[in-house]
Amino acid sequence: MTKKPDIKTWKDLNVGGIIESGTSEHFKTGDWRVKVPVWQSQNCIQCMTCWAFCPDNAIKVTDEGKRGNYDYNFCKGCGICAEECPVSKKVINEIKKAAPNANITSWDAETNQTFKEKASILMVSIKDAKEKYNIK
Ligand code: SF4
Ligand code: SF4
Repeated sequence: MTKKPDIKTWKDLNVGGIIESGTSEHFKTGDWRVKVPVWQSQNCIQCMTCWAFCPDNAIKVTDEGKRGNYDYNFCKGCGICAEECPVSKKVINEIKKAAPNANITSWDAETNQTFKEKASILMVSIKDAKEKYNIK
C-alpha cells in the first residue's frame, strides 16, 4: 500500500518529474462518467475478457479468481467492457439476425428487452443506474 503523497511545490519535485508509483489508487476518478456499466452476473460466462480490456482496472476479481463486480470509484464509463463482452456481442448478433434492420449496440441496448434480459453488461444512464440498479 502506497502512502498518500503530501502536496508539494515545484521545488520538492524530483528532477524529471518522476513520482512514486501507485499513487492513482488515492484519486477516485469515476465521478465524471456519463454512462454506467451494469454487470448481470446471471448471464456471465466468466471469460474475464472485460477484466482484461478495462483500461482502469475497475473490474474486481474475487479471491477465487472469478469476475467480481465493478469498482465504481474508478470506472470511467468508457464502455470497452460492454463492447468486448462475448455474451453481449452474441445477443446483439442474435437480435440483428432476427431483425436485420435493428440498430442496436451495447450503448443504446437498454431499450431492447431481449438484450436487457440476456446480456452480461448493460450501459445505462446515471439516472437509471441510481434509480433502477441502486448504483450510487
Ligand atoms: S466502462 Fe470502461 S472503465 Fe468502466 S469497467 Fe468498463 S472498461 Fe473499465
Ligand atoms: S461480463 Fe462478459 S466479458 Fe466479463 S467475464 Fe462475464 S461474459 Fe466475460
